[in-house]
Amino acid sequence: MTAPAPLVGVDIGGTKTAAALVGPDGGVLGRRRAPTPAESGPAAVLDTAARLARELLDDAGTGGVGVGTAGTVDPATGTIRYATDSLPGWSGTRVADELGERLGRPVLVTNDVNAAALGEAWVGAGRGRTHLLLVAAGTGLGGAMVQSGRLATGARGAAGEVGHLPATGAERLRCGCGRPGHLEGIASGTGLSAAYALETGLRITGQAVAERAATGEPAARQVVDRAATALGRALAGLVAVLDPQAVLVAGGAADTLLPGARAAFTAELPAAWADVPLLAATLGADAVVVGAARLAGVAGGAPTVGDDERTRW
Ligand SMILES: [Zn+2]
Repeated sequence: MTAPAPLVGVDIGGTKTAAALVGPDGGVLGRRRAPTPAESGPAAVLDTAARLARELLDDAGTGGVGVGTAGTVDPATGTIRYATDSLPGWSGTRVADELGERLGRPVLVTNDVNAAALGEAWVGAGRGRTHLLLVAAGTGLGGAMVQSGRLATGARGAAGEVGHLPATGAERLRCGCGRPGHLEGIASGTGLSAAYALETGLRITGQAVAERAATGEPAARQVVDRAATALGRALAGLVAVLDPQAVLVAGGAADTLLPGARAAFTAELPAAWADVPLLAATLGADAVVVGAARLAGVAGGAPTVGDDERTRW
């Protein structure tokens, strides 16, 4: 068997674009990074992504390319179905086709949280497990599912979006979708900020609320506790729906929310799933590029790890 080629994973976010050359064991062999020229429009964003990928491909000589991007991605075509204003004009962009043309090879595309779930399942906190739910608690609250070792994308690429579940305590808080009462409205950076403002009249960032909670400030502590409890309870309910082997929490707010979420999760889990752990994701910002590379390796049919894993993916 010929040596497996390294793969390139690209992470297209609203502010930065990152690319990595990823080896057959999931290790990062090289990196490129640039600001995302979001205000210059989709063509400029794609040019930047292509340039970073090409530099790594030149180093490696060969290999497939996968992309994790902000927005909802049509799983059949690699086209953006929906994106927020963080990437103006990104909705409708044919990312797979356009990047494929620029790079002269097939490009596989998925949502960035989906890519993170694949990365964590491959070499992160979910390693060795084939059924996972991952939630990413940052400014907002995203989610993704891996089932039987594959991304479960749903009909429109949006499966696993846990942020819109009804959540107790979120009644006066607005979700990113515009509605009140959703989990993202309370259990996210934006949610912590808004809940603290309701409580105290002070508008500070979610990160600042977390810092104040860590010092023991009662109002901040209460806001964090409510958010963590809402998250833990919702995730426990999802365990009974999705039957994962583990639930992973990623994102900037993960450390803040995990202790309280774990307590609520454990208390709420039905007995049949009492051994399902709630774990911190371990790959950090690398999860998206590693998972995007994994997507390229799996879908391209390249032998990435071994025959067993190839067939499983
Ligand atoms: Zn919502």
